[in-house]
Amino acid sequence: MKVGFYGHVRQYNNVKAEIDANIKRVIESGEYVMGPMLKQFEKELADFHGTQFAIGVGNGTDAIWLALMAMNIGPGDEVITHPNTFFATAEAIWVVGATAVFVDCDPKTKCIDPTKIEAAITAKTKCIIPVHLYGQCADMAAIKKIADKHHLKIIEDNAQAIDAAGDTFKIGQLSDVATTSFIIQKNLGTFGDSGALVTNNAAIDARVRVLRNHGSTKRNVHSFGFNSRLDDLHAGILSAKLKHIHEWNDLRIKWAARYTEGLKGAKSFLLPYQTPGYRHIYHLYSIEVKNPAKRDAMVEFLVQNGVDAKTHYSIAIHKQDGYPWGKEARIVGSVANAERNAVTCVSLPMFPELTAAEVDYVIQKVMEWDKANA
Ligand SMILES: *Cc1c(COP(=O)(O)O)cnc(C)c1O
Repeated sequence: MKVGFYGHVRQYNNVKAEIDANIKRVIESGEYVMGPMLKQFEKELADFHGTQFAIGVGNGTDAIWLALMAMNIGPGDEVITHPNTFFATAEAIWVVGATAVFVDCDPKTKCIDPTKIEAAITAKTKCIIPVHLYGQCADMAAIKKIADKHHLKIIEDNAQAIDAAGDTFKIGQLSDVATTSFIIQKNLGTFGDSGALVTNNAAIDARVRVLRNHGSTKRNVHSFGFNSRLDDLHAGILSAKLKHIHEWNDLRIKWAARYTEGLKGAKSFLLPYQTPGYRHIYHLYSIEVKNPAKRDAMVEFLVQNGVDAKTHYSIAIHKQDGYPWGKEARIVGSVANAERNAVTCVSLPMFPELTAAEVDYVIQKVMEWDKANA
């Protein structure tokens, strides 16, 4: 049996009629950029998050730096995040000319460790970017407390966790802005690139709307800006898919539970940690090999046996070649947990359209490896 890492085409086939209808509607409308479908999707996305505003942009990375820029964060300012995230989180900080400050992740959730943040705060610190890594929210209540005490902004990098939630908070409630990506491999993804920001801050909303469209609110009138728009075809595809995201994430949760049940006897690795009371929507089901020297061999074994396993992310940002490429960066304290995660993580196939037989096959192969390597 072969088990792929993604189910993009299966998903399309399951909701083809709805997606095709929206694509047709957009094409026949004659309005493809900043048109009515974008407006509709932005309203749906804001309603989905329970925020006042949603703004579609070109991709998830732009969403982060547009948020920073809208809050006037740039050269001389410091932004705190953690180094075991997708590269784009740090990249966005550098795009606006700010200094990336890395602190360690929590050893269990792999999200930023709130207890490490205060040691990194200086007079230059302006913002914290927690990443809701693998589909599970960071400890936003603790982060918000620190941000309030030190008058810092918070951007939630929500590229991996749309429709996740904390025990007492929703995404977008405890931050200034939450950003997301709709590239196809994310839980809500289109057939190409796009992203969005959600916020309750009218000033951020207004500023990003201008910045994303050549600094323009009116034809021929411009201030400084860019071209980073979510076009209407993608908005239509996303609008059709948004109606299903909650049920799709429920399926991910179901497959995660099946993995956890099937793998619970394993000796050579740890299962993903789930914060009690949180809705973890399993963008990734990532296990943690106890012996880092055997990690790559495990991935190799699974791939050889038809299971498309991957690593997220096998090089921490500060360990990338050439880091920090002449940009400003600082590491505060030990980042040993983040470094360890890079050499122990193995992500198993995870998407809503998996079948029970496929999940069971993955479990069988992983347990075979475990037996031989315990
Ligand atoms: C995917 C991702 C991004 C960037 O999104 P793009 O749309 O690819 O620019 C940013 N942060 C995290 C954590 C991501 O996973």
